[in-house]
Amino acid sequence: MESQQRFSHRSRDAQQDKMEKTALLRAAEGSDAADIQTLPIGQVVQVYSQFCRVEHPDGDRLCMIRKTLGKLSDSAIVVGDLVRFRDTGMRDEGGLAQAVIEQALPRKTILTRAGSFRTHAAQPIVANAQQMLIVASVVQPRVKWGLVDRMLIAAQGGGLVPVICLNKIDLAGADSKSPDQLDPALAALAHYQAMGISTLQASATTGAGIEQLKKILVGQSTVLAGHSGVGKSTLISAIQPNLDIRVGVVSVLTEKGRHTTTSAQRYPLDIGGYVIDTPGVKVFGLWGVTADNLGDYFPDVQDDTAPRWRIESYRRIAASI
Ligand code: GDP
Repeated sequence: MESQQRFSHRSRDAQQDKMEKTALLRAAEGSDAADIQTLPIGQVVQVYSQFCRVEHPDGDRLCMIRKTLGKLSDSAIVVGDLVRFRDTGMRDEGGLAQAVIEQALPRKTILTRAGSFRTHAAQPIVANAQQMLIVASVVQPRVKWGLVDRMLIAAQGGGLVPVICLNKIDLAGADSKSPDQLDPALAALAHYQAMGISTLQASATTGAGIEQLKKILVGQSTVLAGHSGVGKSTLISAIQPNLDIRVGVVSVLTEKGRHTTTSAQRYPLDIGGYVIDTPGVKVFGLWGVTADNLGDYFPDVQDDTAPRWRIESYRRIAASI
């Protein structure tokens, strides 16, 4: 397709989106704002460029976000947000009920993406998740504990419970170039464990640790963290063979598939609970972490029991906040 043509398709779609947006807002106009507290509460499960999908026991809604809401709340609506919505009585082309989000409820936890500059406001990406599964691999790629520390503090700062999963233990020792990687990695895990952080060893290939991982994930909403290639998607497929998070959720809200997703992706697990992937997010922000409270996240540095990499992590983060 010619780029010009592609562009005009895109702008036509944007125009269409705008018109739908206006129609929806109009449909909800005139309703009394005083009744907000009586509106139903749903959970945002996906965010598109103009809309978001809200889950509710009576059926999902395709929601518009009221303009004034954006101004009132300090940040955008993200996956996991609990919101009050008002039905418009209209349906989209796919038959999904349409509604307008009137209010976002306070978040219990928050995960942000790191801004490019220190002055940038934190950009939330996931709200109300309970835990973060930090996946690293012994080798291929070799675990970088400094990065694990950064993810750990991003989780703890936002109120999520971190769990460290060391994957590809089948490869440790099998790689002739790095035969002695397992012992130091296990010593590092023991150190985190001693600080009260849950850890597990796994191999998506042999199935080691998969039952334990299931027990950790069941009934919880868990953000997946860890660099590309460490085995996140393979681990999730080992738990649920029909689930491939690499495929991503196709935008199927309308027949034309117009709405492209810009958000974190939430996948329900058959065992109960959800995993949430944050494609495209390389570094999480350190929500709630300040120069004054950083020491709380490094009890080992405080009491002089920190191994060298933990002292380095502490210094690196201290220099960045
Ligand atoms: P992701 O980017 O974190 O989702 O990583 P993938 O799940 O795509 O895995 C990257 C590569 O590592 C793939 O070739 C997987 O087959 C491989 N892999 C994942 N887990 C294991 C494991 O436990 N052992 C071995 N040997 N390979 C693994």
